Amino acid sequence: MMYTVGHKIPDSDSTCSALSLAYLMNKLGREATPAVQGKLNPETKFILKTFGFEAPQLKQNFDGDNVFITDHSDRAQSHDLTKATIVGIVDHHKLGDMTSKAPLECWIRPVGCTNTIVKEMYDFHKVAIPKGIAGLMMSAILSDTVIFKSPTCTPVDIAAVEELALIAEVDDYRAFALEMFKVKSKIEGTPTKDLVLRDFKDFEMNGKKIGVGQLEVVDISLFDDIKDDLMNDLKTFKNDGRNSMLLLLTDIIKEGSELLVVSDDEAKIEDAFDVKLTNNKAWLEGVLSRKKQVIPNLETAFAN
Ligand code: MG
Ligand code: MG
Ligand code: MG
Repeated sequence: MMYTVGHKIPDSDSTCSALSLAYLMNKLGREATPAVQGKLNPETKFILKTFGFEAPQLKQNFDGDNVFITDHSDRAQSHDLTKATIVGIVDHHKLGDMTSKAPLECWIRPVGCTNTIVKEMYDFHKVAIPKGIAGLMMSAILSDTVIFKSPTCTPVDIAAVEELALIAEVDDYRAFALEMFKVKSKIEGTPTKDLVLRDFKDFEMNGKKIGVGQLEVVDISLFDDIKDDLMNDLKTFKNDGRNSMLLLLTDIIKEGSELLVVSDDEAKIEDAFDVKLTNNKAWLEGVLSRKKQVIPNLETAFAN
């Protein structure tokens, strides 16, 4: 038995790739169960409901289990996997620090979404994608690529969405995606602490722990009244053993992000993005992608 599972704070790609990969593995005669390592966000719940799926089982301990990792390869982004056997990785991020005791299967490509690579796995194995699974995969790609606007998006992602939309029988996938991002934008009633952690990742950079959260919304003014609270939460999380806490408030229509920062190395952050922070904030024009436009800059700034 193996588990397919994405990163610790699940997003739609991690959750949908656990489901789509598990289906493929089972078709190939490799018994697999999809899992998630944390609670699902509203966008992911919307996608699962739309295409008729239950949430994968919540699992945080993989001692003695075989795991096929999706959507990450950094140990910091999983619960402890030292007693698990990693049998495979399918991912579209920078290569992380996971390793294995035995040979493993790796599908790692610089495309916009893990589900785009899972789609290539289906094609490689000549397995037909069922309607519901196609809907999940299409949604994840539209989410991760911010409806193709992210610089991480490639022609392969766009072609995959077009093919998957046909299988899923979604006539207007752009309209569907906008509806999905409206669900993602709903923040009222959610404690600001939970918003900071909704799409959050820790990174190790030169021995320093740096947390980076991102909230992608259709209108950044949604945050006007809660920015001070968000900033206070960043301070609290930074005091929990981190060098820096960053939060990207991404406006997918304006195509840019407001960066909120609390850091022991503010000068390095300013350096990383070539900006001056004003009250711990800066507007980053054109920045939509954490993995491509934020993390590499921070890695460079913190390298010395
Ligand atoms: Mg992800
Ligand atoms: Mg992803
Ligand atoms: Mg994302």
